[in-house]
Amino acid sequence: MRRFNWADYTGSDSFANNQVGIVNDVVLDMNDDLTRMVLNPDVTVRSRGVIEKCSFCVQRLQESKLKAKKESRPLEDTDLKVACQQSCPTNAIVFGNANNQHSAISITRKENPNRQFYVLEQLHVLPNVSYLAKVRNLEEEKKEA
Ligand code: SF4
Repeated sequence: MRRFNWADYTGSDSFANNQVGIVNDVVLDMNDDLTRMVLNPDVTVRSRGVIEKCSFCVQRLQESKLKAKKESRPLEDTDLKVACQQSCPTNAIVFGNANNQHSAISITRKENPNRQFYVLEQLHVLPNVSYLAKVRNLEEEKKEA
């Protein structure tokens, strides 16, 4: 997902009108030095004007890679979950090493050859993210038509 940063969380003092929309006590509280400490220290908070997009939770990846390196072993699927994967109750997101034949992502892709697609595949942009198409009962749709 891409999202435009409208607020400047880390340097709000530098803009007199940094607070967006309704300015009340809550908004002002969210911009004080103490409240800003609730921001996750592992995640860089970009400034106003920067477009945000998925970083594949690079901070989690780096932490797990370093841990695996210290233990002199390769990074495994089970070492980490990205935040969206961790918070999804239906396990709709699979993340891992597509170059490892035994990883969950490789198995998911192998098991769903007819449903899997890549966005703009026809342009040969070779994205790392693939999606599974919705399962439809085409027979029923044909009967209704
Ligand atoms: S939570 Fe998911 S969408 Fe957000 S940065 Fe991590 S991998 Fe990307």
